[in-house]
Amino acid sequence: MVLEDWHTHNELCRHAEGTIQDYINKAIELNLDLIGISDHFPYEYLEQSSLLIKEIPYQEYAMRLDEVDSYLSTIEELKTKYDKKIQIRTAFEIDYFRSHEERLRKYFENTLDRLDYVLGSVHILHGKSKLFAFDDRRFLSMYKEYESIDSIYLEYYKKIQYMIKSKKFIFDILSHFDLPKKHNKRAINKGLVMNEAIKTLELTKKADLTIEINTGGLRKEVHEQYPSEEIIKEMFNLDIPVLLGSDSHHPNDLGYEFNTIIELLKKIGYNQLAHFNKRKREFIEIS
Ligand SMILES: [Zn+2]
Ligand SMILES: [Zn+2]
Repeated sequence: MVLEDWHTHNELCRHAEGTIQDYINKAIELNLDLIGISDHFPYEYLEQSSLLIKEIPYQEYAMRLDEVDSYLSTIEELKTKYDKKIQIRTAFEIDYFRSHEERLRKYFENTLDRLDYVLGSVHILHGKSKLFAFDDRRFLSMYKEYESIDSIYLEYYKKIQYMIKSKKFIFDILSHFDLPKKHNKRAINKGLVMNEAIKTLELTKKADLTIEINTGGLRKEVHEQYPSEEIIKEMFNLDIPVLLGSDSHHPNDLGYEFNTIIELLKKIGYNQLAHFNKRKREFIEIS
């Protein structure tokens, strides 16, 4: 079976353990066929914007802008060094902020030709009183500002929809599709939230994007991959391409529960996984 892990972090982001080299060593030890290095892109570029980014501890969420170049060259060196042992891919996971695409582009565009793919994510919402990093436990008290968890899901999916429709925000793969469930906070009006999720899936298909099946959720309170089996079935019906990501923040998390997920995908009907090289998508067979 081909095992490719497209979502990994490392110590540069200040909340993961291990160097890029450590992750590659572990990936080789685990016999993975491919590892995508996809650390968080800096939030610093928002410091001069109207967004009050200082309301969230963004320094603990990503590398600094002055570290981007060495991040990319480190991966490039390791690619050559481990050429015979494992395929290595270069990527960023980038948070989407509506109306700030232009500013991001200034800092991000010149790295694009060095990337194999981009993960598009939403971890931060506008919130009722201030910016809200809903997946960070330290912001749990801010959930109270919303009428119910459903409003958080709806705001989240709306933001994802803007991300997909944005002509200026560049990404290839949609990360952890139903992330608001992370702390096991499930939708109350399931039909309402599911409708918004399906609307988001239809836009994803129209934009010809890929969705990752992220096994990070299996290690969190919710104990379930992102997205849920129910959503993956909708994705299959819409013929949306998928690939796997562990969202590793420690080398031991690499390839986490991939065999279980591949079985689940096969059961649903998937027989191919997406694969990226220099931002071009190909497919590999699930054996
Ligand atoms: Zn992270
Ligand atoms: Zn993420």
